[in-house]
Amino acid sequence: MEKKSIYGLTLDQLTSWLIEHGQKKFRAAQVWDWLYKKRVTDFSQMKNLNSDCIELLEEHFFIQTLKQEIKQESEDGTIKFLFKLQDGNLIETVLMRFNYGLSVCVTTQVGCNIGCTFCASGLLKKNRDLTSGEIVEQIMNVQHHLDEAGKDERVSHIVVMGIGEPFDNYDNMMDFFRVVNDQKGLSIGARHITVSTSGLANKIYDFADENIQINLAVSLHAPNNELRTRIMKINKAYPLEKLMPAIDYYLEKTNRRITFEYILLKDVNDHKEEAIQLAKLLKNKRHLSYVNLIPYNPVDEHNQYQRSTKESILKFYETLMNHGINCGVRVEQGTDIDAACGQLRSKQIKKDKVRS
Ligand code: SF4
Repeated sequence: MEKKSIYGLTLDQLTSWLIEHGQKKFRAAQVWDWLYKKRVTDFSQMKNLNSDCIELLEEHFFIQTLKQEIKQESEDGTIKFLFKLQDGNLIETVLMRFNYGLSVCVTTQVGCNIGCTFCASGLLKKNRDLTSGEIVEQIMNVQHHLDEAGKDERVSHIVVMGIGEPFDNYDNMMDFFRVVNDQKGLSIGARHITVSTSGLANKIYDFADENIQINLAVSLHAPNNELRTRIMKINKAYPLEKLMPAIDYYLEKTNRRITFEYILLKDVNDHKEEAIQLAKLLKNKRHLSYVNLIPYNPVDEHNQYQRSTKESILKFYETLMNHGINCGVRVEQGTDIDAACGQLRSKQIKKDKVRS
């Protein structure tokens, strides 16, 4: 029998599991409290459980499966963690400090198959999906790090924007949301959680039907198919004719604002012409749209792309604003460490290959 991460179970799943294994229903709330409120990392520390229950849990579950390999701290307080999974794969998790709270960016897959041509994560093909337990454990590891610092700080926001396409690991992603959102546990509000997709249109329909208040961000990066296919291979499978109706459905169903991510690549997608096209594309949904302009972090392996100049970024921003599109330029975090998503992981994998 293979042991699993206990963080992968929602409270309902844990309750059913304990009852099926001969335990009383109230044990689930006790275990949940030890995991997410008192945040112990060993079943033997769960003092109000009897020894039978502790043994049962130890036999079937792990609490800690991730091993911290590297921790890089930036001057602005950003911390980038590189974790080793039980099977030896590496993943990244980032803690960012904002004036509204502490936000963690989680990874959902080992590698990624979406193939965005500017992305360090996409250089390493998907090896497997993360389990819901492995995604929750990233948050728990960061929270344990904060607990150890003793400043009574807690993770208040989550962005699902790390390595991988979360909608390609949909069921595990949804279980992850149920665990972190549970009011008896970490209780991270749905409105404080944002999931970002490269535009898997079919899953956007499913997500719209979930009836949850989690925020949606869509990586657009180009306002027309020709350019978008060049930058993001996924546009072949889900071109704008498929993506935009899915977004319209989401907006109609939820009435929630969508963020459109737009990485500015010098002389590729940062001209005034593209800003005007983008404004036209979003015209009928501008009351529920926000465009997040992201200055590009160059990655060694993608040297065909460079960062847009400050003047181009400003001009792009002004053009959108002049067309009535709400937008902003992302404030960069952790610029003195390996800031681009996937950079730390790909560097470490290269080092490991050289060593072996
Ligand atoms: S940007 Fe996201 S979706 Fe695109 S290749 Fe990188 S990890 Fe995958």
